[in-house]
Amino acid sequence: MPSSALAVAAHPDDVEFGAGGTLAKWADAGCTIHHLVCTDGSKGTWDVAADLPALVARRREEQGEASRRLAGQRAGEVRFLDRVDGDLVADRPTVSAIARVIRELRPEVVLGHDPWKRYRLHPDHRNAGLLVCDGIVAARDPHFFPEHALAHHRPDALLLWEADAPNHVEDVTATVDRKLAALEAHESQFETTMHATGADDLEPFRGRVRTRLAELGAPHGLAAAEVFVLLTDL
Ligand SMILES: [Zn+2]
Repeated sequence: MPSSALAVAAHPDDVEFGAGGTLAKWADAGCTIHHLVCTDGSKGTWDVAADLPALVARRREEQGEASRRLAGQRAGEVRFLDRVDGDLVADRPTVSAIARVIRELRPEVVLGHDPWKRYRLHPDHRNAGLLVCDGIVAARDPHFFPEHALAHHRPDALLLWEADAPNHVEDVTATVDRKLAALEAHESQFETTMHATGADDLEPFRGRVRTRLAELGAPHGLAAAEVFVLLTDL
């Protein structure tokens, strides 16, 4: 059980989908949970007339609330890189930005998207996965980005969610409800992501999440699980 974790996501709500149950469980055991969101979430609406700056501000608030619902007293920092949603690129300035956050927060465990998940459409998820891997390499070695003027930091482990070939299972039986509560903090996403018309129409979404977690747990004798690729040779 780590004492601190940093979850790196493409968009607000990705952390909760990918690892919410695991992070809630770790928080209960005293782990500090930090969030780093790479993009501003500005594509997260089907409303062609949406006020996009207002959406960005709302999604920041929602991510803060999701962090509190997930981790309670153990909620750590919630940071944003504010890249434009949909346009995230695994470029060197963004690798530097992620490495800087890893060096500042010094998490024992880092989590992120699996960039090698096959047939994945969304480029931000792919690129966020590459960025977290490249960010760890840069953060751990002292001669990358010396302009940070920060000590290098090598996390103990990297967990990749949406894993193409999972090799690690976390029992989330006790924290499914907290994962759902944190997901439901992202109220602006009820329509596009949860396919709900409002807060009173979330049962089908909850059912889909519960079913998926149960399917992932069943082969391991667990009522609910999240699965990952675990890398410890960092
Ligand atoms: Zn996403």
